[in-house]
Amino acid sequence: MKFFENVAKKIFHDEGIPILEGHVAYSPEEAMTISSEMGVPVVIKAQVLTGGRGKAGGVKFADHPGEALKVADEILGMKIKGERVKHLLIEKKAEILNEFFVTVSVDRGARRPVILASKEGGVEIENLAKTNPEKIIKYYPNPLIEFLPYEAREIARQMGVSSDLISPLGDIIWKLYNVFTKCDADTAEINPLIATPDGLIAADAKLVVEDDSLFRHQDLVERLHYKKQAVDFVQLDGDIAVIGNGAGLTLTAMDMIKLNGGEPATFLDIGGGASEQVINQALNIVLNYDPVKVVFLNVLGGITKADDVARGVINSLKQADRKVHIVIRLTGTNEDEGHKILDEAGIPYEISMEKAAKKAVELCNQLKE
Ligand code: GDP
Ligand code: MN
Repeated sequence: MKFFENVAKKIFHDEGIPILEGHVAYSPEEAMTISSEMGVPVVIKAQVLTGGRGKAGGVKFADHPGEALKVADEILGMKIKGERVKHLLIEKKAEILNEFFVTVSVDRGARRPVILASKEGGVEIENLAKTNPEKIIKYYPNPLIEFLPYEAREIARQMGVSSDLISPLGDIIWKLYNVFTKCDADTAEINPLIATPDGLIAADAKLVVEDDSLFRHQDLVERLHYKKQAVDFVQLDGDIAVIGNGAGLTLTAMDMIKLNGGEPATFLDIGGGASEQVINQALNIVLNYDPVKVVFLNVLGGITKADDVARGVINSLKQADRKVHIVIRLTGTNEDEGHKILDEAGIPYEISMEKAAKKAVELCNQLKE
């Protein structure tokens, strides 16, 4: 199973490998908003599973938010080696001093994992292998014993980088090998691994996990797929994600969306007494589901407490790597407290379900114009 760069980067980062600040965008408008909030210049990257995006025009830069809008519009919908671009990674543009290359993969002939590294990254490594094979360092860690940090530093030293980089580069090689073994990967690769004034950073990330091992990597699978979890989730054809507490209320919310001329993208029931974590989980599912333009969260608190819901919403929106519009109807148990929390965060809400549903559809129509 191949991972998109944005997901692979998070997995690398969990292991301690530095990455650039970045967010995912599904529309040119989102790319613009992210660029203005995060600060320019930015790099805008097509998220597809094939490499060579740079050459194909799938990696571009923008110096101001307006340019990000234009560039994002050009890249979204583009086809790279037959794969349509549906989302983008918007990152803070780094100043590159040097580009290196590190990959861990399996040498099937040798029946061992192998680390390949070079001080000449960025370029297509296949070409370098043909023209200057001596510039690629090849190392076979012993898979039966632990790969030690000094071995990784020795690889860095052989790469011929400046002495101040040997220790930090060795550290990243060691961590990348750990990602490789922990994930049962076929390939874990950073190309380019960039040297910047702020240190070494993975500017690209490739991760392919061995399919036969996926049964023990449900956590990884969940980062890509939207499976049934503690919440009841049905994927539908529209673009308005409907979330409610209780099946009846969720169905009613879907009807209200339909009556107003909208199309639900999800039926998602968080059940009774949903905690902050469950709200978080529900919002993560819909935020990771591409077609969703607007989220309609319809909560009539009974056992479910409005203040828990409000806190869950705020936390999810903070962590989300994608900006999405949300219309909240929140009433019932602890509603005063819930409203206060939303007011303080500057998130609008409605008391009436009818009003909220109408607003969600109108907002979605505006976004499509
Ligand atoms: P690939 O072509 O699919 O491998 O995409 P990459 O993510 O490797 O990006 C291609 C090239 O874009 C890199 O080799 C870099 O030269 C350049 N690039 C990517 N991110 C940045 C950045 O933050 N700053 C600068 N200056 N260049 C970048
Ligand atoms: Mn690359």
